[in-house]
Amino acid sequence: MKAVVVNPNSKANVEVIEKELRPLQPGEALVDIEFCGVCHTDLHVAAGDFGNVEGRTLGHEGIGVVSKVADDVTSLKIGDRVSVAWMFEACGRCEYCITGRETYCREVKNAGYSADGGMAEQCIVTADYAVKVPEGLDPAQASSITCAGVTTYKAIKVADVKAGEWVAIYGCGGLGNLAIQYAKHVFNAKVIAIDINDDKLSLAKEIGADMTINPSTAGAADKIIQEQLGGAHAAVVTAVSKVAFNSAVDAVRACGKVVAVGLPSETMDLSIPRLVLDGIEVIGSLVGTRKDLEEAFQFGAEGKVVPVVQTRCLHEVQDIFEEMEQGKIQGRMVIDFKQQ
Ligand code: NAD
Ligand code: ZN
Ligand code: ZN
Repeated sequence: MKAVVVNPNSKANVEVIEKELRPLQPGEALVDIEFCGVCHTDLHVAAGDFGNVEGRTLGHEGIGVVSKVADDVTSLKIGDRVSVAWMFEACGRCEYCITGRETYCREVKNAGYSADGGMAEQCIVTADYAVKVPEGLDPAQASSITCAGVTTYKAIKVADVKAGEWVAIYGCGGLGNLAIQYAKHVFNAKVIAIDINDDKLSLAKEIGADMTINPSTAGAADKIIQEQLGGAHAAVVTAVSKVAFNSAVDAVRACGKVVAVGLPSETMDLSIPRLVLDGIEVIGSLVGTRKDLEEAFQFGAEGKVVPVVQTRCLHEVQDIFEEMEQGKIQGRMVIDFKQQ
């Protein structure tokens, strides 16, 4: 079968190769992949930002149909449509796993990083961890919810934004377009969308942002937000830039929460007096649990959020990675494995 693997000597650090899958082990299922979105995390993994994983099959926005299950599997059956998410498997026993924080399990495996992922014609999954896609949700759109959607849905939960409150979304790309939609249409918040590309901001407006700011032409977003609104109640940062993280801390009002989601390999500045005197919280948020994904899917199935996706062919994968690096992508590019 064809798979997209990490290769530091190849264009965009990825290549398409032929790979043989091993036989299923107990607890596993085989998924015939239909779609897999390209997330900016795939670029970080391929670039070696989290360590060298040469040869690893990428992909954690995989959607496909179960074609085989191991004898002991009861949670899935042949024909079920399921997801291959970053939250690929955890121990199920530790303090994190048993308190609803399984993404932080110290033994967690992540698809497309520490386990072979969904950017391939087939993928072996741990059956109990593959979340089912509800009826009525388009599979290409579901792929985008598998990481971008669940991550931003969870981040807004963590931000604890109440109806009518202002949330600043920094970065309106693959994650950002869904952050805006979940904030606006699920949490009933008011949304300020911030991006350095005007085309991302036009999309943000179309999908419901109440206010848009391009800091590269309008000036610092934090100043504008403080002057016009007295500060946001919370900020969710998906931008791959420390500038955005620093601005987010200055954009929130007293007792505001800054939820860090983007993963630039940098250090952010944090004024201790600002943190202490204004009671600011800065919180990291990592994807979402299986339950979060089930909820995030359901809002997609109900049409409350509509992921902005474009399907592409597998042979275009290196181009997609380069376009993403250059900030040229609107919403998400999703590889269609049936289209050659
Ligand atoms: P993307 O490339 O689709 O979007 C990033 C957006 O940020 C682009 O629209 C870009 O124009 C914008 N941007 C860049 N610099 C900016 C700045 N200074 N201010 C405002 N906007 C700016 O990427 P994505 O797939 O949405 O992923 C975003 C980040 O989130 C990546 O670092 C990715 O690894 C990370 N991520 C984290 C999690 C998690 O669980 N925490 C999950 C998925 C992705
Ligand atoms: Zn991702
Ligand atoms: Zn655990």
